[in-house]
Amino acid sequence: MVEARVVRIPLRFANSYLVIGEKTIIVDSGDPGFSRGILQAMEKNEVKKTDISLIFITHGHIDHYGSVFELKREIDAPIAIHRLDAPYFNQGIQAPLYPLNPIASAIKLVGKNLRVKKRYGIKADIEFKEKLELQEFGVQGLIIPTPGHTLGSASLFLPDKRAITGDLIVWQYLFRGKPRPAPFLHDRNKFVKSINILKGRGIKTIYPGHGPSIDTSDIRIKN
Ligand SMILES: [Zn+2]
Repeated sequence: MVEARVVRIPLRFANSYLVIGEKTIIVDSGDPGFSRGILQAMEKNEVKKTDISLIFITHGHIDHYGSVFELKREIDAPIAIHRLDAPYFNQGIQAPLYPLNPIASAIKLVGKNLRVKKRYGIKADIEFKEKLELQEFGVQGLIIPTPGHTLGSASLFLPDKRAITGDLIVWQYLFRGKPRPAPFLHDRNKFVKSINILKGRGIKTIYPGHGPSIDTSDIRIKN
């Protein structure tokens, strides 16, 4: 199987990604109203709607899944999310936000009651618990739970030491500064274990949920 090509689609704040192998997986979809950006990126990269084998949501925050319901009107592919974050996705609400600093607390005030209104009755098709092999979706790689930011956060690992990790690690100032844990952390112990999964797999490049790719040698985690 060919090595997958990863295309970052910077939507307003959050990233969506195309993982293009024999088939294509969409990872995350940005806030509501941003499906157009994904469809345009598909066209630019010559990915047909029928090439999409899976839509993988890294975790149950609306800035990562808000456009899925629009996408599903155009694309007939199953949606996968870890079963611990699936209930939030299925209801169109935010997974709990645990802020680590005053700015994050302020963001929580604005974000916690957000809802995705036009949900078209869509629910997750695959609520995985452990890992999810991607062979059958035409991509060499797998999805592994990497909880911490939320309890149901998960990441997509590619065999050549790259991973798409949602909000596990973010840029300190959205697109600048140092890479660090997201300012929302549900469970620090689980977060540290998830970082060790990245280390254990020798991941060199991560594609975060916000901003450009991160070289893992730049990551400093205080214990
Ligand atoms: Zn998040």
